[in-house]
Parts: sequence; structure tokens; C-alpha cells
Amino acid sequence: MSGQINGIEIPFLPEKKKYRVILRLPDYSFTKGLFTVFSGSIPKLVLPTLCICCNKETTDTKQVMPFDDDRKLKEPMVVPVCETCKKHAFTDAGSTSLYLLPIMLGLVGTIAMLYQLFSAKEIYNKNTFVVLLAISIAFLAGGIYLAYRYSKRFKFAEHGHSPETEFDSRIDGELFILTINKTLVENIIKYNPGTIFKVSTTADPEPFLK
Ligand SMILES: [Zn+2]
Ligand SMILES: [Zn+2]
Repeated sequence: MSGQINGIEIPFLPEKKKYRVILRLPDYSFTKGLFTVFSGSIPKLVLPTLCICCNKETTDTKQVMPFDDDRKLKEPMVVPVCETCKKHAFTDAGSTSLYLLPIMLGLVGTIAMLYQLFSAKEIYNKNTFVVLLAISIAFLAGGIYLAYRYSKRFKFAEHGHSPETEFDSRIDGELFILTINKTLVENIIKYNPGTIFKVSTTADPEPFLK
């Protein structure tokens, strides 16, 4: 269900998508962002002392760095997260849909190499194909393992948890929060008046240069 808080509309969340909350400084402009890009000037996020994953009261926190580049924040961004949730509350490299690529490569490689080994009439460099087959199988196995880890983390979502929240900022100084946690979205809106630019979902195209 959708709803409205402080005049901000919270859209309906389609399955397997995340809310996308965008915060901007009150004097935001894209060009200004470009000029102040390395000063770490993004909106300061204010949150209640509730775990961003299970929404339970907590005094535990984790420092989050929303930049991919070498910007530094003047003050660290501190997010409340309980001890139990620290492992799955945030996105990390091993948990995103990165498993798709190794599975695809592994599968294509395995089929191609098996075809070469068993159907080609004459093979001069059989060992090369055997090695390539082994590498393909390793990719496939690695991808399946990552997929397993990914699905296991999402199991938490069935028990009142909202894993895989992302904090992100690009060059123009906007702060993005991607999450499946509706309570978190509601709290971000309640506690950060004046800096909420938009709440959409990852089903919508990402706004850029608007
Ligand atoms: Zn928690
Ligand atoms: Zn959790």
C-alpha cells in the first residue's frame, strides 16, 4: 500500500524492488554538486535509534561511507543497526546479483568446452580444453555459491528483517537510500524535513540531471 507523510508520497513497492529515497541539500544544484564534489557535502541523515533492518530499538551503530570515490565526509555517517543485523543489513559485493555473471560465463564455458571435447573429431590441444572446462566449472560453482548466499540473506526478509539496504552518493551531492524497509523510509521522511527530494522505487528509472 502507498501512503503519504509530510506531503511526500510513498509509492507502492513492487516485488523484488527497493524504495529509492533521494535526499538533497536545500540549496542543491547539479553544478554546485560538481564543484563541491570532494568536500563530502551531502545531506546529513537523521534517524531514530531503531535498527535499519529489524526496526527494533538499538544503541548499536555502524559507520557508513556512501561514496565510491575518494571523497571524505566531515562527520562520519552513523546508522543505527543492531548486533544481529550487522551482517545482513547492508549490501556487500558478495550479496548483490553479481552471481548472475559467473553463472552465465560458467554455463556457456562448460557447454562450449564439453561440446569441443566430445564432438570435435580431432583435437590437437585437448589439455587446453580440459583446463578451460575446469575454469568454467569453477565459475559456475562460484556463481551458484554466491546465489545461495544471496538467497539465504533474503530469507531474513521473511522474518521481519529488511536486509540489503544501500547508502549511496554520486558526484552531484545527492544521498540515495535503497531499501525494502518501509518503516525506515517513513522515518527518513519524518526526521529529515527539507532534504527529501523524492521517494520512488527501483522499478522506476533513476532520475538524472533533474
Ligand atoms: Zn536489527
Ligand atoms: Zn536484520
